[in-house]
Amino acid sequence: MLQAPSKYQHFIDNVAVAAASGESIAVVDPSDGSVFAQLARGTAADIDKAVIAARRAADGVWGKTTPVERGRILARWGLLVADAVAELGALESRDTGKPLRQGLADANALARYFEFYGGAADKLHGQTIPYQNGYTVLTIREPHGVTGHIIPWNYPMQIFGRSVGAALAAGNACVVKPAEDACLSLIRVAELGAQAGLPPGALNIVTGLGSEAGQALADHPGIDHISFTGSPETGKRVAQSAAAHHCPVTLELGGKSPQIVFEDADLDAALPVLVNAIIQNCGQTCSAGSRVLIAAGIYDRLVGLLAERFQALRVGPSTSDLDLGPLINEKQLHRVREYLSAAQAGGLEIAASGSVLPDVPGGGFYQAPALLASVPSDNLLFQQEVFGPVLVATRFQDEAQALALANDSPYGLVAGVWTRDGARQMRMARGIRTGQVFLNNYGAGGGVELPFGGVKQSGYGREKGFEALYGFTTLKTIAMRHD
Ligand code: NAD
Repeated sequence: MLQAPSKYQHFIDNVAVAAASGESIAVVDPSDGSVFAQLARGTAADIDKAVIAARRAADGVWGKTTPVERGRILARWGLLVADAVAELGALESRDTGKPLRQGLADANALARYFEFYGGAADKLHGQTIPYQNGYTVLTIREPHGVTGHIIPWNYPMQIFGRSVGAALAAGNACVVKPAEDACLSLIRVAELGAQAGLPPGALNIVTGLGSEAGQALADHPGIDHISFTGSPETGKRVAQSAAAHHCPVTLELGGKSPQIVFEDADLDAALPVLVNAIIQNCGQTCSAGSRVLIAAGIYDRLVGLLAERFQALRVGPSTSDLDLGPLINEKQLHRVREYLSAAQAGGLEIAASGSVLPDVPGGGFYQAPALLASVPSDNLLFQQEVFGPVLVATRFQDEAQALALANDSPYGLVAGVWTRDGARQMRMARGIRTGQVFLNNYGAGGGVELPFGGVKQSGYGREKGFEALYGFTTLKTIAMRHD
């Protein structure tokens, strides 16, 4: 088993810094419930220190670093992460409980984010605008200054990469508050950033509880932009706190994403993707495909095929690298079980479920994946984000009903459409209210290059791709009169 350090401190001004309170948070291994490390418990005093360091960097060395040099630092950082994939992947896997290969995939994705944003740093430019005679008007994109990043526990490295990678490429100095449940990899990633050449203060990490360090970051008047990924309730609170000092926010708040399968779909291609979209990371993925909408003519057949796949799924400790690992913590396990109990109490039946290995450690947070069929659209399981390995199947009669069901959700993050009919693909893609639509695929393997974000309760603003750089900059218009 990986020998991780037992104590993790904040990372401010390129050095490890102890919590001002002197207190720590126990880090639990979701695979067995054991405490294997301690994390600095940050408070407002630590956030203040990090914001001061970031401001100094933004106004100083980092602010004067040219885009090409910022890009080179990010590119070097990506290479260092790529060299450390085995270490980072194992740490992420232990900290989150995800199967080892998913931890390794996350580390590789992080390297790719730095590579992508390293390449983009010197390609972000403004425009000239035709105006009256005797004027030249141009726009330039400037960094916000100091950006805050509140990161959840499900994909610490990937979400750090997409948000901090873009913010740094655009020239911001960052203060990051990762989730208390899983963030160890990020401390190591920050050390690699310093090694790659990030000057002190460009990147600062304060660990701690959401209600303490997270709230202090959202409240801090020295923060110029906040990027938040997490639950709709906390997102609302963060946006309200930021509004008190007119700080813009980007919110990525999860989803209840539909996969819509028509009669003419290639089921052989669709089936493994439908299953993976809900079991990856034990369903704790904002873009999980948690609703499958199936045309009446193939409903029974596809539900039967899904049931066969679900019955073969196995759940075990992160190191056993099975189909699913444990959930992140006791609270999440309880939440998923409550949803399943409520559904069963309301008359729904579990059509198929996978199995937890019989010899898993007693203290782990294991939940077998479940498939529920014929779930009506007014059921809680159809409407609410479970954030666990629970897939609901619902039948539709025609395209109009498929679209209506897809949009019958408070969320709007991602959708998948499976059909060979090109005109129908485009009608559905245009009609669905989400930030991304995938036609005959789902998730595009993470898609570092693809703008990502939601509508409705899934949030607003876009991360990933080149588009993210616009969100991490502010546009200045310069009008020069020269007649
Ligand atoms: P959360 O939204 O409370 O936490 C996300 C991040 O926000 C963490 O870093 C947390 O420390 C921080 N935070 C919490 N309270 C804060 C506050 N008052 N001010 C500033 N930051 C604060 O999510 P959770 O409690 O860890 O999980 C609850 C549910 O959220 C899950 O069941 C799931 O539905 C959803 N979730 C979604 C995503 C996603 O990717 N969209 C990720 C994690 C959780």
